Amino acid sequence: MPFVSESMPTTSHHNGFVYLIGAGPGDPGLITVRGRECIGQAEVILYDYLANEELLRHARQDAELIYAGKVGGAHNREQSQINELLVQKALEGKVVARLKGGDPFVFGRGGEECEALVAHRIPFEIIPGVTAGIGAASYAGIPLTHRDFTTSVAFVTGHEGRDKDVSTIDWERLSLGSGTIVFYMGIKNLPQITASLMDHGRAPETPVALIRWGTRPDQEVLIGTLADIAGKARKTGFKAPAITVVGEVVTLREKLRWFDNRPLFGRTVLVTRAADQAGEFSRLLEARGARVLECPTIRIAPPESFTGLDDAIARLADFHWLVFTSGNAVTAFFDRLQGLGFDSRAIGPCKVCAVGPKTAEQLQAHGVRADLIPEDYKGEGVVAAFADRDIRGLQILFPKGDRARDVIPAGLRQQGAKVATPVAYRNLAPDSVPLPVLTALEERRVDCVTFTASSTASNLADLLGENRFLKLLGGITVASIGPITSRTCRELGLEVDIEPGEYTLAALTSEIVDYYTSRI
Ligand code: SAH
Repeated sequence: MPFVSESMPTTSHHNGFVYLIGAGPGDPGLITVRGRECIGQAEVILYDYLANEELLRHARQDAELIYAGKVGGAHNREQSQINELLVQKALEGKVVARLKGGDPFVFGRGGEECEALVAHRIPFEIIPGVTAGIGAASYAGIPLTHRDFTTSVAFVTGHEGRDKDVSTIDWERLSLGSGTIVFYMGIKNLPQITASLMDHGRAPETPVALIRWGTRPDQEVLIGTLADIAGKARKTGFKAPAITVVGEVVTLREKLRWFDNRPLFGRTVLVTRAADQAGEFSRLLEARGARVLECPTIRIAPPESFTGLDDAIARLADFHWLVFTSGNAVTAFFDRLQGLGFDSRAIGPCKVCAVGPKTAEQLQAHGVRADLIPEDYKGEGVVAAFADRDIRGLQILFPKGDRARDVIPAGLRQQGAKVATPVAYRNLAPDSVPLPVLTALEERRVDCVTFTASSTASNLADLLGENRFLKLLGGITVASIGPITSRTCRELGLEVDIEPGEYTLAALTSEIVDYYTSRI
């Protein structure tokens, strides 16, 4: 390796570049904006055990993903191998993202990786991250400093390199020198750490918190004192990865706890919507503390033929009403309109009915305000809402999904309207259930399965096969968005435990919350 002095320019003859990115402590929302941007630029991503794999969804489709994990001492790859790989990929001219848990420069050996890059004159950028000590403490409701308790905080390793051990720490100064002490990697050495602090003058009754998998849906917190925490950790089998917070600030958790006491914390909820729609529901559930597994059961696809829709669009001026019963229908209709060279003005004076507030919101995105939203957000509600009006002889356009029920066309025709029902999109089943979902079901780690449309239930049954569907879902709480979906569930052999009075995702979410809070 040639010696490179610090003053030498870092120009190079390849385009290789390395982003050393702090992935944050676990919650994928805690990566920085810059970090996420750089993940999206990388051609190669080397990621750690502690970096949340969900972050990889920001990666380019063609990015090469390399797991460079280390699991508590049993290193999958030696650090030197990781350094070599980084250098090698960069020298090949690749843009490399090195994704490290927490902050790359806090106990992450990021410094060493950087030194290897400098030695090969590979240009790099360091993107800091929320380190576990900060992230986990926040999510445990423990402020690391507080004017009433302490003015200082120290970050300390509880497990030093092979040739050293925790005895090289200056315990004398540490014990009394810092108000709050945060140990990383200290779970194995907890008995020695607590004993050393007490031997060097820290009071045995000093509060201690162990925070495992901080900021994640499976965060675990164990509270004790210097005197008893090691025993408690042994008895409960408390394991790494965890940080240890020592100091009076730990008592503030009682007052400031906010994350792991959310009503759905510790519950795993399966969301079975179309992949591109799952996000909204997942976020509602996650905001209540649930761990959400997404299992797409619908794939929205264009119709087999656009003829029907195109004919209707060609004579849009003839229609008096447009009826939309889903956001998908809105998207499909307006996409086609645009594709044919029109925009929202093409609907002219035609009135618009949306089945519910969410569909109306989608319309708003196209600059269209719904003239009619029924009180009951389903097909029957639409029919009832029109019953108050005289629609005899009117032309109604209902761009629908291929699996739409006949309730609306039949009901409106009965009231004397002429109804055109071109298929605007199709609901297809995806090819398979994602492996993490299947494993969670098999290991009985799912508490609640949610169905937000009949097709989500019937498609999941198709995907799993009916026998396996009943076997895997047996005993799991079933939440359905409304009576029609519930009927499909029952026809498939499931019992429905949760059904809101109003057929919206928000109402379904609060019904799930009520179900679990009333059971405690
Ligand atoms: N660079 C990382 C630390 C790497 S050392 C950072 O800045 O966070 C690995 C140690 O970090 C683990 O042994 C554990 O003590 C701590 N750690 C990492 N993620 C954690 C999490 N989500 N919850 C609790 N501790 C965590």
